[in-house]
Amino acid sequence: MNTTQLPQLIRPDLQAHIYSDQLLTNVRNLRTFCPARTRFCAVVKANAYGHGISEVVGILRNYVDAFAVATFYEALHIEPMTGGKPILILEPVNPAYTPEQIKLCARYGFHCELSSLEGVEYAHRVLQGSDLRISLHLNVETGMGRCGLDEPICSAILQRLPDCPNIKLAGVMTHFATADEDDLSYAYEQLFRFERFLTKHQLKDRNDIIIHACNSAGTLKIPQAHYDMVRCGVSMYGYYSRPMKNPPVPLTPALKLQAPITQLKKIPAGHSVSYGRSFIPKRDTLAAIVYLGYADGYRRCFSNRAQMKIDQSLAPVVGRVCMDQVILDVTDVPNVKLGQMVTVLDNQHDSPCGAYALSELADTICYEILTMIHSHVKRIVH
Ligand SMILES: *Cc1c(COP(=O)(O)O)cnc(C)c1O
Repeated sequence: MNTTQLPQLIRPDLQAHIYSDQLLTNVRNLRTFCPARTRFCAVVKANAYGHGISEVVGILRNYVDAFAVATFYEALHIEPMTGGKPILILEPVNPAYTPEQIKLCARYGFHCELSSLEGVEYAHRVLQGSDLRISLHLNVETGMGRCGLDEPICSAILQRLPDCPNIKLAGVMTHFATADEDDLSYAYEQLFRFERFLTKHQLKDRNDIIIHACNSAGTLKIPQAHYDMVRCGVSMYGYYSRPMKNPPVPLTPALKLQAPITQLKKIPAGHSVSYGRSFIPKRDTLAAIVYLGYADGYRRCFSNRAQMKIDQSLAPVVGRVCMDQVILDVTDVPNVKLGQMVTVLDNQHDSPCGAYALSELADTICYEILTMIHSHVKRIVH
């Protein structure tokens, strides 16, 4: 093993298996659900939702039309890997960008979000007189209440842009706040406001502008909003934003996380386990120590609540989850072996250690469970 020049610490004992077939099938199913003209933008922010950004971009680059990331730095990181596919940066252009950053965005053809008039003026000032041109997407506030811009400011920007030759209005977008909920009335209200905006400014028939609105939930539930492009994250990785009955598109999780059993030991009845003595077995117990903990993305609140899978058997987590170790009760699990790999996060929707089940235990959404998977976990592409 070459240990002299590792650019980044990797833990090959912690293995996130990434199944290319699943990822590509999810993309194909989502694409088929959209009109043929609708572009597919693969959202790979947050280390591709914990799946590994380099790995996912490598798998997808020939099968998607664009990539979206949260920040400039992620865009710079994947730029050499996308095979020329455009990258949309969701962070708005703003004066905290250095002039150099603005120029690099233009040079690399990054598409950036636009969420202020100051952003326009800043990009204009930096690029003025050069032969560089930056592609910006106007983010329209329709009810998300985050980085969209209210109509009067959008209007001011649309009026200002013709005087900014170094800025290309490449897109107009909005973002849904509630597309994952059962009640879609608010989402439809947002769609209505977006439509009204597009009509008022005669943006709908301009084929030099990409109009986009849908995240995963919007893509699945509001087909009228597909427009020129959809921005899919969680669905591509195989999940509905929240568990969904009768989904219109089949999706399969593309990741399975495994860690090894590094120790097996007998714990006599009545002896306590781990910090805080939160578990005291009533029977003589065979315990397995799995070498992963909250520092690797396995939440501490799973203590005494979650389960892991050993072959086809389930074993409960007992005692507190530690920084880098978890203890399982494997008394009832047949043929447990030292060194055996245990499934920590399963690739089935209904698995007791799937992302939905774990997110329920942690009182969160599957996104957070996935993105917590530490970047030092080894990604193994199948
Ligand atoms: C993260 C994000 C998405 C992707 O959301 P999913 O629910 O994972 O599909 C789409 N659009 C914007 C603006 C985002 O920030």
